[in-house]
Amino acid sequence: MANPALFQFNLPKSGRPSEITIAQPWYPGIQKYWPTCTTKRLVDPIFGIVAVVIHATAGASSEGAISVMKKPADAASFHWRVPDEDEAQHGHLVWACVPEALAAWHVRNAVAHADVNKGAKKVNHWSLGIEVVNAQKDDPFSSWQLEAAARIVRYCWAKYPRLVHVISHAKLDPGRRSDPGENFDWLRFRDLVLHGADEAMPALVAAATPAAKIKTRAAAGCCDG
Ligand SMILES: [Zn+2]
Repeated sequence: MANPALFQFNLPKSGRPSEITIAQPWYPGIQKYWPTCTTKRLVDPIFGIVAVVIHATAGASSEGAISVMKKPADAASFHWRVPDEDEAQHGHLVWACVPEALAAWHVRNAVAHADVNKGAKKVNHWSLGIEVVNAQKDDPFSSWQLEAAARIVRYCWAKYPRLVHVISHAKLDPGRRSDPGENFDWLRFRDLVLHGADEAMPALVAAATPAAKIKTRAAAGCCDG
């Protein structure tokens, strides 16, 4: 079985997507909770972002997941939530929950890992958090959930020039957390992030005639003199 405490990969210097869009409306009414579950970043909100942290809830709905943002004390928060299979938004959109320019509260300030940002603490300040809604027990992640989470990371990769680490919450805080859990297919997720396998081939490319099917003269003699 996969061990979530080992889930991490770093984005290569080549292969950065040029521009990725995602359907990400604000979760209804979420704005009013920002004052009690977010912080102004200690780093530049674009050039200071170096990591994306992958989480999964231990609940079965976005509404339940959102409730942690509404707690008057001990609130937690995430930038995006990926709906579960039985929610109407599944297959269509991810919920934006916190502005990317602000630090969401998804990792404890005290934790750090030597493999990530040179072991720096206060992870929330230099990271973005994605929460995938999943009951954790007897609840497989859907293909779309993996694709949607991967597409958010590709969007971030295109947007944040210094983004490099993609890491599980479990690796950052193994004593207390195991999310996104062993059912999260990390290798497929990594493949989707690195290669954008969910992105359709552009129509102009798909419609083009393969070069092998085009009759033409052999190249020799045309331009090698
Ligand atoms: Zn988590």
